Amino acid sequence: MNLTGLTIDAARSAVQERKTTTLALAEAHYVRIQNEDGQIGAYLTLCKERALEQADRIDRMAAEGKPLPLLGGVPVGIKDVMSTRGVRTTAGSKILGNYIPPYDCTAVARMEAAGAVVLGKTNCDEFAMGSSNENSAFHPVHNPRDLTRVPGGSSGGSAAAVAADMAVVALGSDTGGSIRQPASFCGVVGLMPTYGRVSRYGLIAFASSLDHIGPLAKTVKDVAIVLHAIAGRDPMDSTSADLPVPDYTTDLEKSVRGLRLGVAKEYFGEGLDDEVHHAVESAIDELKSLGCEVVPVSLPHTPYAIPTYYLIATAEASSNLARYDGVRYSYRASGVKTLSEMYRRSRDEGFGAEVKRRIMLGTYALSAGYYDAYYLKAQKVRTLLTRDFEEAFRKVDAIVTPTSPTAAFRLGEKSNDPLAMYLADIYTVTADLAGIPGISIPCGETQGKLPIGLQILGKHFDEATILRLAHAYERAA
Ligand code: GLN
Repeated sequence: MNLTGLTIDAARSAVQERKTTTLALAEAHYVRIQNEDGQIGAYLTLCKERALEQADRIDRMAAEGKPLPLLGGVPVGIKDVMSTRGVRTTAGSKILGNYIPPYDCTAVARMEAAGAVVLGKTNCDEFAMGSSNENSAFHPVHNPRDLTRVPGGSSGGSAAAVAADMAVVALGSDTGGSIRQPASFCGVVGLMPTYGRVSRYGLIAFASSLDHIGPLAKTVKDVAIVLHAIAGRDPMDSTSADLPVPDYTTDLEKSVRGLRLGVAKEYFGEGLDDEVHHAVESAIDELKSLGCEVVPVSLPHTPYAIPTYYLIATAEASSNLARYDGVRYSYRASGVKTLSEMYRRSRDEGFGAEVKRRIMLGTYALSAGYYDAYYLKAQKVRTLLTRDFEEAFRKVDAIVTPTSPTAAFRLGEKSNDPLAMYLADIYTVTADLAGIPGISIPCGETQGKLPIGLQILGKHFDEATILRLAHAYERAA
C-alpha cells in the first residue's frame, strides 16, 4: 500500500482496518519530506516527537478496535502562524525565530482531538504578508508543479506540502486570499470559512477583522471534513460565532440542479489572463450542464477593493505588531545601551522589508489628520463592498470567479514591485472584507501545465452550498 497521496477517508480506514498504522503513515510522510522538501521548502519545523506520541495514541485505539475519530491517523501540516505548545512558531519571521508558545491554537487542538497527527509547521510569508511566500524570513517555497515558480502565498508552505504529498491536509490562514490563491497556484483545494466560523485563538494576528483559519486539501470532501473538525464557538475567541456546526459532508452529494450561480463582469476584466479566463468559462459551462442557472450580477465597488484592503489590513497590522518590542517573547538586539535603542534595533533587525512597509503604511493611515481621509474612508468603502454582496446574494446562491488573475508566476518576478504583487489579490480580498466564505478548486491547466483555480463565494455561514457546488464540479471534471 502506498502510504502517501491518500485522502482522509483512505488514511483513516487503512488505520482502522489495520492495513497500516498511524506510525507507518507518519514515517512515510517524514521520508517523503526528507527526499522532496530540500527542493520545495514547504516546512520550517518538524515536530517528530509530538507526531509519534499522537500516532501511538491513535494506533492503540485502532488496536483496541475503538472507532477512530474524523481525522484518526491523518498526517497534517500547520501553517507557522498557528501556535503549537512546545513547538517553535515563527510566523515566518526572524523576530519570532526562537519563540516556543506555551499553548496551542484552538484549531490545532481541535485537529489533534479529532485524531490528526501534526507533522510540522509550514513555511509562509512573514506574518502572512505576501502573495508568493518570498517574504518568508527563512527561505522561499518552490511550487511543486514547477520549481521555478512561486507556490502563492501567504500559505505557500501548506499548499505545497499538500500538493507534493508531504501532508494529507494542512491548515492555512486567509486575510486577503492566503488560502485560496496558493491553493489555486499549487492545484489543490483551499477553503476560507465565514468570518467567525473557526476560532482564531492562538493564531498570530495580522489583521484581526480579516484573519481566518481554514483547510487546504486534495479534495473538496477533505476540506469539508476538516472544517467540521475545527469549526464552532470557542470561549477563548469572542469573535467565534455561537452557531451550530453542520456535518459538511452529508449534503456534498446532493444535486446542484436549480442552484443559481452569479457571474460578475467586474471579475472578468482587464488584467485577467486569457488562459485563466477560458478555463473559468469552461468550468461555468460545466456547472451549467449539471443544472445550475447562471445569472449576471453586479459588484460595482470591486475596483476599490485593493486600496480598501491595503489600508485596513496595514492599519490593523501596525497595531497588532506593536507588541514585538524585544521586551517579552520576541527577538532582542544585543549590545543596546538605552530602552529606546532596544525597541528600535530589535524591530529593525527582527522585521523584514515588507513587514516594515506595512507598519509604516498602516501607522500613516491611522495617524491624526489622516485617519478620516484613509482609515475611516476605507471602512466606509468596506461597507459598500459588503452591501454589493448582500444585494447579489438576494438573486443567487453562490458567485463564481477566477481565484487569481494569472497562474503561478516566476520566483523573483514581482518581488521588487509591491504594487504588482498587491494586484494579484484582486479577486480574493473582497470575500475577506465582506466576511463571506470562499473556496478555490482546480479547474484545468495552462499550456505550460500550471494549475488554474476556480473560486466559489457563498453567503455568510453557507459553506455547505459552496462545498456542494465545488464537489459536483470536481466529480464532473
Ligand atoms: N496577499 C495578501 C497580503 O499580502 C493577503 C495575505 C493573507 O491573506 N494573509 O496581504
